[in-house]
Amino acid sequence: MSTAGLKGVNASGHEGWITVKCRVCARILDLTADLTYVCRYCEEKYEAYFCPSDAKRLRYRCPFCGRELAVYNPWLVERR
Ligand SMILES: [Zn+2]
Ligand SMILES: [Zn+2]
Repeated sequence: MSTAGLKGVNASGHEGWITVKCRVCARILDLTADLTYVCRYCEEKYEAYFCPSDAKRLRYRCPFCGRELAVYNPWLVERR
């Protein structure tokens, strides 16, 4: 009988499931399914992620540094 397995870890087989929070409204954004905007400069420092409606309200500019926001997951745009 083997007990060396890693039972329970990654049992769902659903890898790459990444979620972040919108910095403005705290909505949970799934990077694999929800269009998400990010400031590449403030991403690590402030977790500068934004949902599409808040990104639009910010005129696609980062509230921390004023730089233009980028689409975090461009493959979602191409699929439209
Ligand atoms: Zn938001
Ligand atoms: Zn920024």
